[in-house]
Amino acid sequence: MKEKILEMEQYAKDHNVPIIEKDSIAFIMKFIKANEIKDILELGSAIGYSAILMASVKDDIKLTTIERDEARYMECLKNVKKCGMENKINVVCQDALEVNLSGVAYDLIFIDAAKGQYTKFFEKYKYFLKPGGVIITDNLKFHGHVGNRNNIASRNLKQLVGKIENYIDFLKNNDEFETKFYDVGDGLSVSIRKNDV
Ligand code: SAH
Ligand code: MG
Repeated sequence: MKEKILEMEQYAKDHNVPIIEKDSIAFIMKFIKANEIKDILELGSAIGYSAILMASVKDDIKLTTIERDEARYMECLKNVKKCGMENKINVVCQDALEVNLSGVAYDLIFIDAAKGQYTKFFEKYKYFLKPGGVIITDNLKFHGHVGNRNNIASRNLKQLVGKIENYIDFLKNNDEFETKFYDVGDGLSVSIRKNDV
């Protein structure tokens, strides 16, 4: 398993796949261990690196992960098989904003897909949380660009960073969830659904 993880890290480096930072996945794995988390949904599988690590925390974890890019989806499937996790991890090849989930609820939803769509993902998927469920979001610092928009030359990048900043405000002002922000890796948020809603 360890070897397969190292192989994935190397593959990500060689093919410019933006997998999660080590500190961040360690943080999330600790969170999963410390809380009663069994059912996980991930938006943005890439090659399955974070999915495999999250699913490896406990025997009873079941994880669904969604990836819209076909080549990455195939690579993800391959890695899930290599790690013998076909029974724990379900990989879906579709745009997360188009997926139709019904009758399922998750303890943890990990948002790590297109950064410009975070608010949309959150608004769509909050209905698929169990009571007291949690949404964790990655890349809220976006390599240090968040909060430093004025120094960015590229218009597209500036716009994207603006969207992440709006998402952060959206979380801060959200009455349904209590959000904490963590300066770990590329920046993480943990949003816990309040019990009274
Ligand atoms: N969670 C992975 C990294 C994901 S990178 C890890 O840490 O190992 C982000 C991925 O999200 C990319 O592979 C991209 O193709 C995918 N993605 C972006 N927008 C998406 C969407 N709307 N639906 C599904 N996948 C999406
Ligand atoms: Mg990420």
